[in-house]
Amino acid sequence: MKKLVTIILSLFILASTNVVAFANSTTKIPVLLYHVVTPNPSGTYQFSLTEFKNDMAYLKNNGYTALSINQYYSILNGTSSTPTKPVLLTFDDSTSDFYTNVYPVLKQYGFKATQFAVSDWINTSGHLTSAQLQTLSANGIDIENHTTNHQSLTSDWNTQYSAINNANIKIKSITNNAPSSVAYPYGSYNSTTTSILQNLGCKGGFTVSGGLSSSDNNKYKLPRIVIANGDSISVFSRKLTTGY
Ligand SMILES: [Zn+2]
Repeated sequence: MKKLVTIILSLFILASTNVVAFANSTTKIPVLLYHVVTPNPSGTYQFSLTEFKNDMAYLKNNGYTALSINQYYSILNGTSSTPTKPVLLTFDDSTSDFYTNVYPVLKQYGFKATQFAVSDWINTSGHLTSAQLQTLSANGIDIENHTTNHQSLTSDWNTQYSAINNANIKIKSITNNAPSSVAYPYGSYNSTTTSILQNLGCKGGFTVSGGLSSSDNNKYKLPRIVIANGDSISVFSRKLTTGY
């Protein structure tokens, strides 16, 4: 009897291990990237507020779960279970529209999201204030690192280190949460950048390369999918599923 119990227990453990491993090796997570969201977008990187509302409704109606940045890493690392359709919503450049236009829509659907803030731009004209960042941070929006001044991360160690570390310090001083991740301005980075992130204990770095995230990705070269001005709902749906 004892032997039988042991065998059953072993099979159970084996089965659950396989389930976790299986989920981990096949999970693909789209990481979407928006910039300014406004009623009257101009240029490639601004996006229509009406279309943004349609995108978020599409996610809700199609059973997507918008993750926190920690949930995202836990799924990639295989340390937490995966919702049926995970998605990470990211927004760059800490512009004011995030608070006035984007946040109310995210709140309506109970979606978590990540804001990659440029620390020197905080409290300047057209950008988020410290008080807004605190409110966002306390309500499901992770405030992460997009450098001090939107520098291209291709220079020497000391320059890059300051751009990343000083932004971490400033954001932590406002939100009381140390950023775990960096979004590379212009998608530019080099081997110095990834070494600095490891040195600082950052969990990941994000590019703009397109494609879906999986546990196979180098954590300092995580792909994001740019949602561009004029993307229709069919383009949005294609990007969600294919990464391009
Ligand atoms: Zn940017």
